[in-house]
Amino acid sequence: MTTAAIVASLSVGAMLGCLGPCLARRLPPRQATWLISVGATVAALTAAAVLVLVGAALLGQLSDLLGLGHWSSSILRERAPTDPGVAVLALIGAVASGVSLVLVAIRRALYTWGAYRTCEAIDGDPRLVVVDDPAAGAVAIPGRPGTIAVSRTLLAALSPFERRVVLAHERAHLAAGHHWHRTVVAIAAAANPLLRPLIGAVSLATERWADERAAAEVGDRRGAARALARVALLTGGTGSTSPELAIGGRPVVARVSALLDDAPPPRPLLTATTIAILFLALAAVVVVEKDVEHLFELAGHVYQAASGRAGR
Ligand SMILES: [Zn+2]
Repeated sequence: MTTAAIVASLSVGAMLGCLGPCLARRLPPRQATWLISVGATVAALTAAAVLVLVGAALLGQLSDLLGLGHWSSSILRERAPTDPGVAVLALIGAVASGVSLVLVAIRRALYTWGAYRTCEAIDGDPRLVVVDDPAAGAVAIPGRPGTIAVSRTLLAALSPFERRVVLAHERAHLAAGHHWHRTVVAIAAAANPLLRPLIGAVSLATERWADERAAAEVGDRRGAARALARVALLTGGTGSTSPELAIGGRPVVARVSALLDDAPPPRPLLTATTIAILFLALAAVVVVEKDVEHLFELAGHVYQAASGRAGR
């Protein structure tokens, strides 16, 4: 049972990693973004918890050696949920994922701090900055309240309608806090590499979310799609080198196609499948936690009984 729960918990990351791109393309983008970011968090936390719990049974056996033990190490050894080799791998995985998580969290914190500082340093109206740059581009810089930086070159090349689409798109990024969703997924993927496909998925979902908001604001989906395609051509944005929250960033073809279609319907089956996968992760970690807790309780009782006999 415990082995099955461990396998299930660790498989959830792979399942979610495979499902993420599909969620980003097929679900309404707001729903997709939340499912991906919450799902990544749950999958990363539950997998880390399982690794720590499996490793704990091995560490408990060392308590005798260190003279700290209140558990019978023979019981912990005989009834451990996994082989010692698996427990060692689990401990190595837990440490590696913790280090990777901290490094990425620091990098994201520096990015966010730098963005906030940039917004605070702007004189005048911080909400829109026009930059004299020969390259065409527009980007949302997170902050309080956040800034939209757009190049004069791009503004000059666009019609008034297209400018409205660009600005509405960037405003949507700031208003919905898309950088927080991307940060959460990046940190979760650092902790659990199986979640890496979700980084691209949440980028696409948040871009589509901003596209949908822009289309609703200008009241013309097809017009917004044409504006987006034109901006992508002007910015030369293939997505791979675009800065985060840039208008031409991420798969433009998929985004234009989504806007040319009707607004995406909620897909209850896809949503329910994702939620069921997350519940599987939670159930698995509860099973492993209960088993390891019972193991330590038993080891503690045996240790106390043995200590009592030795004291008599
Ligand atoms: Zn964008």
